[in-house]
Amino acid sequence: MKNSSHLSDEALQSYLLKEIQDDSLIVEHLEACSKCQKRLEEYQVVIKNVQKIEPEGFTFDVSALVMNTVTVYEKRKSRRQEFAFWGVLILLVLGISFFSLPFLPAVFKLFFSGSGLITLLAIGVGLGVFLFLLTDIIRQNQVKEGKIFKNNLQPMS
Ligand SMILES: [Zn+2]
Repeated sequence: MKNSSHLSDEALQSYLLKEIQDDSLIVEHLEACSKCQKRLEEYQVVIKNVQKIEPEGFTFDVSALVMNTVTVYEKRKSRRQEFAFWGVLILLVLGISFFSLPFLPAVFKLFFSGSGLITLLAIGVGLGVFLFLLTDIIRQNQVKEGKIFKNNLQPMS
């Protein structure tokens, strides 16, 4: 077990946190492998720094795991909300088109025979509503992304 299989990140962390009862194999590998020794020193620094910040709190591993779960949950939640939003929107459009089907010929007549002003007005209103919805979606997404980003930074700072 010289260079064939290096110690895993989990093994190094558990060793540093003294979670392993029989660590003779790890010690043996560390004595023979400078690469893993260096990684161990890096973990030592990280764990020391985290323990300085949270003296009686969670260990590095646990808080990272919790933050990961929170992030995944937030992402999943916002994606579900997005699906629901588009679902409702499509249903609404389909419903409106279905019920307005009998009136479509009259609407078309208005567009093509009516004055250009009414056509412009209708297009303007449509564009306005579309832009309003679009900016609203983008703003909501930015708020969500901000929350997720903040959550990601917390355990590391
Ligand atoms: Zn190694």
